Amino acid sequence: MAAEKKPFHVAVVGGGIGGLCLAIGLLRQGVSVTLYEAASEFKEIGAGIGFGPNALRALEQIDPSLRASYETIQTSNPSPNRKSTWFQFQLGMKSQNWSKLQASTNPTEKITETWQDGQKVATVTAGKTGQLSFHRAHFLDILVALVPKDVPKFGKKLVDIEELEGGKLEMKFADGTTAQTDAVVGCDGVKSRTRALLLGPDHPAVSPRFTGKYAYRGLIPMEQAVEALGDEVARNSQLYMGHHGHVLTFPIEKGKTMNVVAFRSKEGEWGDEKWVLPMERWVMLRDYEGWGENVMKILSMIKRPDVWGLFDHPHAPTYYRKRFAILGDAAHASTPHQGAGAGQAVEDAFILSRLIGKISSADEIEKAFKAYDAIRRPRSQKVVETSRDAAAVYEFEDDSLGTDLEKVRATLEIRYKWIWDEDMNEHLRQAMELMD
Ligand SMILES: Cc1cc2nc3c(=O)[nH]c(=O)nc-3n(C[C@H](O)[C@H](O)[C@H](O)COP(=O)(O)OP(=O)(O)OC[C@H]3O[C@@H](n4cnc5c(N)ncnc54)[C@H](O)[C@@H]3O)c2cc1C
Repeated sequence: MAAEKKPFHVAVVGGGIGGLCLAIGLLRQGVSVTLYEAASEFKEIGAGIGFGPNALRALEQIDPSLRASYETIQTSNPSPNRKSTWFQFQLGMKSQNWSKLQASTNPTEKITETWQDGQKVATVTAGKTGQLSFHRAHFLDILVALVPKDVPKFGKKLVDIEELEGGKLEMKFADGTTAQTDAVVGCDGVKSRTRALLLGPDHPAVSPRFTGKYAYRGLIPMEQAVEALGDEVARNSQLYMGHHGHVLTFPIEKGKTMNVVAFRSKEGEWGDEKWVLPMERWVMLRDYEGWGENVMKILSMIKRPDVWGLFDHPHAPTYYRKRFAILGDAAHASTPHQGAGAGQAVEDAFILSRLIGKISSADEIEKAFKAYDAIRRPRSQKVVETSRDAAAVYEFEDDSLGTDLEKVRATLEIRYKWIWDEDMNEHLRQAMELMD
């Protein structure tokens, strides 16, 4: 049954996963929405995206029909004994090479074990979901299908917001046009304009910071990957751990393609205005000198790698001011090391759309934003922090674990539970209580 129409209007700025999920959630709650997108159409860059059980539950709460839609495009591990595996963690280089590299950066730490390339470190399971991934463009399509044609306005790059007397907001766009609304939610991604408008241009938390990690991304036809690596290794998700780097692979497009993300560490700044750059294959291969057989086989199959500088946000002191809020990467951009960034945007959209769905006048919007901020900020910012920490574990940069594989295994097996198993309905209940 359609919800009763609310007597106020919400502007969503940015039509990525966060903005689209919010728009769908608000529409289901009877809120009229306009979505302003800077680009000329909806689009996603990159290939695969993994979703944890928490993100899938939040999606279904936003719109129950999304489950049937995502099931048509989801890919998971095909082997029966790998269905619940998120990643199989293993060493990605031989101990002799490891010792040499380790000695060059940390001469005091000696590798005493005889580590084998491919040696198992941990099998991390994610409930019934396991490794569940989508092709980004296909996932965006199922969201777009739920948004009526008159909701999105394209070519609308937001540049400024003015608070008007009486509480309404006026948005100014780069094309010289303006629009008024009762509330604005900025979902405009990691380089967010709305974040700068909310916090102030000179606030220390405005700009994203380089995390000291970058990643090569590539796609390999699964048949070719199987020929090189064997069925089990190629078709199921793997994470190869190594010295200041890690490489992960997982199947996408119903197993037709192997998605590869290969991470490395870099001291200092990223050093380029662009965060995504095309890269020569030989440069990538040089970056992994000394790595093991499977890693080198995987990388040499990538024909045209892109390299991505990885940035995240310092913690914002607030996600709202009066009738203006931020959501998704605009609020808490994270590194991808827990596969949880977009999932946090979906959780934000679930909680915020339900809170707004509960109020009955524009005067109450600030109250909804306040409860959203109180409930969502601690969890989403913890994801940003633990994501950085996770990379340090995968790359043996965590001093408390060193190269003790038993300690590494123990932390890997438990460290994602708080993200995946959290009860979002309980969070919503607490947020509703705060709002009342
Ligand atoms: C390499 C990599 C791998 C990742 N893998 C995963 C993963 O496996 N699982 C996971 O959960 N997350 C992953 N993430 C994180 C995930 O991609 C993001 O968290 C998610 O896409 C954020 O969605 P968003 O809607 O908040 O922002 P975005 O997707 O960035 O969307 C922002 C939108 O706003 C528009 N926009 C920008 N500025 C303006 C403006 N001024 N006015 C109007 N519109 C504007 C943009 O055009 C865009 O459409 C990964 C990230 C990276 C970098």
